Amino acid sequence: MVKVAVPCPLYNTFDYKLPASLNHRVIEAGMRVRISFGRQKLIGIILEEIPGSTLPANKIKEVIAILDNRSLPGSEILALTQWAAKYYVHPPGDALQTALPVYLRNNDDATPPLNRYWYINNAASNEQTIAAQLKRAPKQLQIYQLLKNNDAETGFTGLDAEQLNSITENWRPAIKALLEKGLIKQDVRATVLLSQPAQSPQQVLNQEQQEAVNAIRQHHDGHAVHLINGITGSGKTEVYLALCEQLIAAGKQVLVLVPEIGLTPQLTRRFLQRLNTTIVVQHSAMNDRQRYAAWQAAASGQAQLLIGTRSSIFTPMPELGLIIIDEEHDGSYKQQDGFRYNARDLAIVRAKNKNIPILLGSATASLESLNNTNEQRYIQHQLKKRANKKPLPTIRLVNLCNQKLHEGMAETLLDTIKLHLSQQGQVLLFINRRGFAPLLMCHDCGWTTNCQRCDAHMTYHKRRQQLICHHCGAQRPAADSCDDCGSTNILAIGSGTERIEQYLQNLFPQTQVSRIDRDSTRKKGSLQEKLEQAHSGESGILVGTQMLAKGHDFPNITLVCILDTDQALFSADFRAAEHLAQLITQVSGRAGRAEKAGEVLIQTHHPEHPLLQDLLHKGYPAFARNALEERRAAGLPPCFHLALLRCESIDASAASRFLNQAMALTENIEQPQLDIFGPLPAPMERRAGRYRYQIMLQSKQRKILHAFMNWWIPQLPQLSAARKVRWSIDVDPYDTF
Ligand code: ADP
Ligand code: ZN
Ligand code: ZN
Repeated sequence: MVKVAVPCPLYNTFDYKLPASLNHRVIEAGMRVRISFGRQKLIGIILEEIPGSTLPANKIKEVIAILDNRSLPGSEILALTQWAAKYYVHPPGDALQTALPVYLRNNDDATPPLNRYWYINNAASNEQTIAAQLKRAPKQLQIYQLLKNNDAETGFTGLDAEQLNSITENWRPAIKALLEKGLIKQDVRATVLLSQPAQSPQQVLNQEQQEAVNAIRQHHDGHAVHLINGITGSGKTEVYLALCEQLIAAGKQVLVLVPEIGLTPQLTRRFLQRLNTTIVVQHSAMNDRQRYAAWQAAASGQAQLLIGTRSSIFTPMPELGLIIIDEEHDGSYKQQDGFRYNARDLAIVRAKNKNIPILLGSATASLESLNNTNEQRYIQHQLKKRANKKPLPTIRLVNLCNQKLHEGMAETLLDTIKLHLSQQGQVLLFINRRGFAPLLMCHDCGWTTNCQRCDAHMTYHKRRQQLICHHCGAQRPAADSCDDCGSTNILAIGSGTERIEQYLQNLFPQTQVSRIDRDSTRKKGSLQEKLEQAHSGESGILVGTQMLAKGHDFPNITLVCILDTDQALFSADFRAAEHLAQLITQVSGRAGRAEKAGEVLIQTHHPEHPLLQDLLHKGYPAFARNALEERRAAGLPPCFHLALLRCESIDASAASRFLNQAMALTENIEQPQLDIFGPLPAPMERRAGRYRYQIMLQSKQRKILHAFMNWWIPQLPQLSAARKVRWSIDVDPYDTF
């Protein structure tokens, strides 16, 4: 008899018999089995072998097949996932399913399939000659560029047929011709192991870096959480590399988590150039097969270093000796749907279980990590100086009150842009709103472009002449007259990236203005192209959303402008102030990285606001100290612990009925030190046609919160209203929306 975790939304596990034909098999927890479940045939995971079941014998079904001859995730990952399922109060079968590679959910055979990859033949590549050589073969040039951009974008060498099919058509003749010309190569393999002899010598570490490295090395033989708090450009990556070098040489494996795929190529290149090792990367732009092959390479020990995004935390690495979480404050470590785990927090649990050190690195550490440092659970290492000795930029506030504005930009700001351009500087403008304008309004009757399905406006996208709802994705053509009164007197209210781009391009016709947001980089390779133009200095002005704020290093940027801060200063989201402070600090770090001194302008109607004043005069640490005090006073994380029970339904009354039934369960329960708020409407009550309500749980004691949830939540699937609604529990929610 075996206990099986089945991918379904229920909190229990299921008992199955082994048929006589399988009775002799050695059972390991983590082996996959094919089972029938209701009317479906599913892949489940054995949790343990049990002597018997409490269920009557005729109720117990037989396992159809055992798919693996050993546990693929292994006991460490199995334990981590089960711990996470408990902590996040998530159905264990679904949690395990999420933690395993998608490939293993859909394929009985776990041998990673071999596959043909095409990639650039570096030996042959000289940009200009190739462009000239392929002048009369545009398709070949296109494919060549695709392969090249793919390398740069993902650090992943090569594209396969499935990927090429998804990008372009009729590519086979071009591939054949490029192979014959020796411009590209092909090979057949499961995954790409990146490996090359180390080229760049180790930097001589400065005193701060060396002190951090020494202090961390003292803990190499056991568990400790280290927070490397280093300003942008202080050389955190060099500290990672120095620590990896020693462990790699000792035969250990290292797991490096990064927030986004956009950050992997730069980092991967640096690891590759410095360490004599084998590296695999894992990220969302890879297909299921490739991700699984990378998982396999790490699990088998073939790859020593794994660089990946959030879900890589669940990759087995038998010789794991160190975990590094780069940009630990980043929100993308938290999964926002389904199994809502936080990869940073799970990494700490994993390091503790395995008794190894873990490094969290950031220029703007999360309040959670700073709080843990204050309470001496983490060891802090500070890098206060820029490693390249360049001064930090000067930051100035631009008071918008009573100023004449041009598409939301003050004249002082425009003058400063002009000055920097005239001195051959590059300018980065940052606005967290894509599209042309957040809404259209009728000047005669006040009608606005509301989304039919959300309590929100539809954003005007001028280039596409579309209205798009950024919450549900609804689209419709932007008509040139009012829906209500027919007037053609329509105003575009407010500015997004598209409008700023257009205005600046008109104002500075000699300068190339480049917009970098999700709309302008949808096509594969276009982000890479734009980043290259930015690097080469071809585009003088970059207008972008937060995509631009992260990680990218533009040496010629001398001026950074942050256009909209007021919204975040007064947001209902309790993390908004923290995000703004991190954004300002990170974006400012982009100015003056190289030869020229940098300057940062921040537009606001509230220059006296204490958050901005703290940041300006005392820096991020002072801001963080005050913000922590505010969170404590308000009973918010990390000083208090939160969980959110969310519920949504097309039928508003069904959603509130479910939450009322959930509340009713708690009526006769004494809950000292636990506060339950709600049911309340979500800040955006209607979204994508669904009404959304929530109950918030709050406690100073994590244990009390968890004891309550572990009793309460597993009862909810049985509530009579549960079938008509979608509901979820979010432990340590990233936002309360
Ligand atoms: P961070 O990760 O903190 O932003 P990096 O590690 O990327 O910082 O370092 C910033 C720049 O300084 C890089 O160009 C890096 O090569 C350089 N650098 C780092 N450490 C040193 C050092 N000890 N000596 C000289 N240059 C260094
Ligand atoms: Zn009107
Ligand atoms: Zn909508």
